[in-house]
Amino acid sequence: MNWRHTLKTSYVQLLAVVMVFILMIAFGYLASSYVLRAQLINSGSQLINAAEANLHTNLKEPEAMLISSVFSIQELINSGHFTQNEIHSYMINISEWLIRHGEHITGFHGIYGLVRGEYLDGLRWIPPADYVPTERPWYIVAKAANGGVVSTVPYIDAQTGTLIVSYAQEMFSINGESLGVVSIDVLLSRLENYVKSLKLSEGGYGIMLDGNFELIIHPNPIYIGSPLQELESETGVMNGGINPSLELIETLKSGQDVIAKPLWTIDGRKITIFLRPVTHGLYLGLVTLESSFYADMRVVGVALFAVGFGLMSILVVILLRLSAAKNRSDENSKAKSNFLASMSHEIRTPMNAVIGMSELALRADTLPKMSEYVTGIRQAGLSLLSLINDILDFSKIEAGGIAFVQSPYMFASLINDVINVALVRVADKPVLFTANIAADIPNTLKGDEARMRQVLLNILTNAAKYTNEGYIMLTVCAQQLPPAANGEGRVLLTFEISDSGIGIKKSDIPTLFGNFVRLDSEINKKVEGTGLGLAITKNLCIAMGGDITVQSEYGTGSTFTITLEQRCAPETKRLAVVENPAAKRVLFYSEHALYAESLFLTLEDLGVPVTITIDADDCMQQLITGDFSFAFVSQGVVERVVRLKRDHALKTQPILLANLGEITSYQDIAAIPMPAWSVPIANALNGIASGYRQDTDARWIAPNARALIVDDVATNLKVAAGLLLLYKLQVDTCDSGKEAIALVSANRYDIIFMDHMMPEMDGIEATTAIRALGGEYFKTVPIIALTANAISGMREIFLRKGFSDYLAKPIELHKLDEVMARWIPKDKQVRTAADQTAGAAADQAV
Ligand code: ADP
Repeated sequence: MNWRHTLKTSYVQLLAVVMVFILMIAFGYLASSYVLRAQLINSGSQLINAAEANLHTNLKEPEAMLISSVFSIQELINSGHFTQNEIHSYMINISEWLIRHGEHITGFHGIYGLVRGEYLDGLRWIPPADYVPTERPWYIVAKAANGGVVSTVPYIDAQTGTLIVSYAQEMFSINGESLGVVSIDVLLSRLENYVKSLKLSEGGYGIMLDGNFELIIHPNPIYIGSPLQELESETGVMNGGINPSLELIETLKSGQDVIAKPLWTIDGRKITIFLRPVTHGLYLGLVTLESSFYADMRVVGVALFAVGFGLMSILVVILLRLSAAKNRSDENSKAKSNFLASMSHEIRTPMNAVIGMSELALRADTLPKMSEYVTGIRQAGLSLLSLINDILDFSKIEAGGIAFVQSPYMFASLINDVINVALVRVADKPVLFTANIAADIPNTLKGDEARMRQVLLNILTNAAKYTNEGYIMLTVCAQQLPPAANGEGRVLLTFEISDSGIGIKKSDIPTLFGNFVRLDSEINKKVEGTGLGLAITKNLCIAMGGDITVQSEYGTGSTFTITLEQRCAPETKRLAVVENPAAKRVLFYSEHALYAESLFLTLEDLGVPVTITIDADDCMQQLITGDFSFAFVSQGVVERVVRLKRDHALKTQPILLANLGEITSYQDIAAIPMPAWSVPIANALNGIASGYRQDTDARWIAPNARALIVDDVATNLKVAAGLLLLYKLQVDTCDSGKEAIALVSANRYDIIFMDHMMPEMDGIEATTAIRALGGEYFKTVPIIALTANAISGMREIFLRKGFSDYLAKPIELHKLDEVMARWIPKDKQVRTAADQTAGAAADQAV
């Protein structure tokens, strides 16, 4: 496997897979961290709720204890039967009882108080001399509470170093005098253990802050008594220098809970903290180590990554294998296309000889039989060539190598050509061919004429191929579009090719334009074809910005509709104009209603009044009685018409509507080959005779010009020399590059046709050598590349190599004509009669 190539061709897909993978991991990680955080908040809040409730219960116990003790002592005093000592003894009793039952009622530290002005301590503690009970917090808060049970804020007992809280209550006599304050100390060690043991995950713990936000419970004793901020590390100072812990304190001060806030501790760990104001002005806190809480998530992340990476790797391998397989098959198919292209190219060269030679043979004076055979050879050669061209085109489309040119062309000549070709295809069948070409189509269009011709010919020859009787109808109209940005005019051409042929089944229509599709192979066994024509046509139409569609009824016929946009000059002449049309009255006779209909439409389009008859006698009658300028008649009545004209000295001009092969016997009257369409009809009405062989006579000759043809294949030399005979030039030939250089040095040529591929020295080398000979003549003598290598871009390559122009083999007459007109010096071109007729025809037509 060629990894580099494979990677190059599939890197977009690979990149997409990797991106999707990264996105998936990122999304998975974010989603699970979001879920985990939600879970953290949820369970943190639940835990803190539970802890708060527990705390309350814990602190209720000493409160109840105090209330009952104070109530008893107050009752004892108020009964008046008990001395101070007895009250003290009672307090000692209670204290000892509490201590004795320490396993049930933990944390009580004995009862003490200022009773009737004397400090009594249930634990028999003798206060030092400077001990002033009325200044103690328990006394102060109790006095302030005026009989209610109050507690001090928890504090660290100076003597024991443990956390305690004092509950106190003032006592009163029956008549409301103060009897003193009794207090009970509660050790908060039970609470301490409980708080410390709170944890959400491994390594977590609980803390408690007092009202000054100093730590009173923390698993690490060194923090006890420190403000919360001291817990925090320097690195935790973020958010523009504000200490996060201060923010937490602010939140607490405003009475809100702190929920899952991050904090960096002094020992460098990241914690998440929950804090909530609870009873007694205390704050309960819950600390979670992020590292441990998110440990699970990291596991999930790693698992996700591993699974994702595995899947991605599998996908990448599959993709690479697929891509490599595709590349291999692309290469195979490209090799196939190239093989097809070069094969068809190779075949075109001998085909050139076959077709060219048969063309020459046809022009020579030969026996009629011989000419028939040669026509056969030529016809076969042409269809073989079109097959080869199909394959060449198909392989070029496959290899994506079709380029379109945008150059001006004459629409009339395009239509003329396609009609003539299609006509030959139906000549031997009972098929009528009509053409309705709108007269208002601009005659000079801009586009790729060759490709237009190819598209139309494909569809027309299909119609001819698949229609055995009935008709074929070509209809063309144009719709003016708003001009292009560069000011050029735009027209939308619609070509409709209808036939009454075998038709196409509805079920076959969706695949009709596919490659190598041939329908009804049983019925069409005898019809030649590759099944490529429609595929090529569709591709060409789409590539030229147009489209082709089909409507068909099986057994009845089909209509193919091609729409293509072409450019034109903003002010361009119409295809056909009849001078003074209203004054030209036409009588039309044909045996075929279909011809009548077509002619009627065309003449109406040209603005010419027409009378139609399909009865021969009626035709004669009308000719005598009516005042017709023209009589368009078919072969069947032409003799009668000619006689009638002579006998009645009619002014009416007969014009023969000639089917293929009928024309020669009536050369003295003008003829329009059928299908008669707007341009030939307009020409006839404007008095310009038309004939079949116009285009085979050169419009000019150049007896003083001299040409050299260089080709290593003798038949090719003959073909080219034969074609140049038209121009009556002096023609030299030679079969090698070397010889060509010698001849060019010895003689002065006006044009040189140079074959491309030749053994020893090819055309390019010979041209380079000629150009290098120095001197104006060698630099400027027109050298025309002759090549069968008719692929796009070739012209530019030849021009760069020093050639003046390019002509594809087999040589097409009109292309040769263009090249000759361009390069033979104007002063050597002598106009002929054919030129005058053609020129006048063209002038009249547009
Ligand atoms: P082919 O070289 O076989 O003519 P095309 O691609 O030109 O290939 O046409 C494909 C098939 O479409 C033909 O084999 C024929 O069955 C069908 N088809 C094309 N044009 C017509 C038509 N005008 N009428 C009926 N069938 C047609």
